[in-house]
Amino acid sequence: MNCDFHCHSTCSDGLLSPAEVVRRAHGNGVTWLALTDHDELAGIAEATATADEVGLRFSPGVEISIEWAETPIHMVGLGVDPANPALVAGLGGIRNGREERARRMAAELERIGIRGTFAGAMTYCENPTLISRAHFARYLVEIGIAKDVKSVFDDYLVPGKPGYVPHRWVSLEEAVGWVHGAGGLAVVAHPGRYRLSNKDLGLLFEAFKDCGGDAIEVVSGSHGPDQTDKFAHVARKFGFLASRGSDFHGPGESYSDLGRIAPLPNNLTPVWERM
Ligand code: AMP
Ligand code: MN
Ligand code: MN
Ligand code: MN
Repeated sequence: MNCDFHCHSTCSDGLLSPAEVVRRAHGNGVTWLALTDHDELAGIAEATATADEVGLRFSPGVEISIEWAETPIHMVGLGVDPANPALVAGLGGIRNGREERARRMAAELERIGIRGTFAGAMTYCENPTLISRAHFARYLVEIGIAKDVKSVFDDYLVPGKPGYVPHRWVSLEEAVGWVHGAGGLAVVAHPGRYRLSNKDLGLLFEAFKDCGGDAIEVVSGSHGPDQTDKFAHVARKFGFLASRGSDFHGPGESYSDLGRIAPLPNNLTPVWERM
């Protein structure tokens, strides 16, 4: 079994089309894939068709941008019905907010003398309704503001830096409700990435448990071995299912390639056993 339940295509901020993601996953030895674009289900049909063609098991997924305790958090929905009206409408609402946020980001960058970033970021954005900080980062690298995407984030696009603007995403409860209503399982994405103390992370897991959350990503492309151990412990303690995903965005830009991540630690219930 090589399950990869977290990755992105050009329908959000990935660099490969849904079909290319599926073919690459298959070539890398993935046996079960979920495509989880940010706030968008538009890639699911193409990914499903390609997965059928190459003989790869596939589940529809999505990575929902939420806000908990004024902190942006990502929640993956796995095995969702991509036609579910409440989920589709909810994600549409988040995408509308993204354009307005991107315009505010561009205005902030303009205040420090970096002009034209909204239009510039859009040239990297195949899905104009899904403009993300990753598209800004690619454009800022192109115009020589920073040497690579990682340093653009460190110097411009994170809280406290000039191109970052706070934004109201949806609540944890609402997102879990959409995922469950669409027949899916709700998973906290890459818990090791958030700007939260251990105490606040514990509160997040309690809140997630209270609203019926199902699983957390234990193995993630953005977790090191210590974080994998830490979140394996969390999953056992809270009784969460354990998920595994590379968070692949594209060759050369991601920590991990599709399927090229550690196996799940022992004594966990893998989320795929319930799908
Ligand atoms: P957004 O959803 O617009 O806030 O953008 C978040 C996306 O930016 C993430 O999904 C990643 O693709 C990318 N990102 C966030 N932080 C970093 C980072 N430190 N280095 C590279 N990419 C990042
Ligand atoms: Mn992303
Ligand atoms: Mn994420
Ligand atoms: Mn992701």
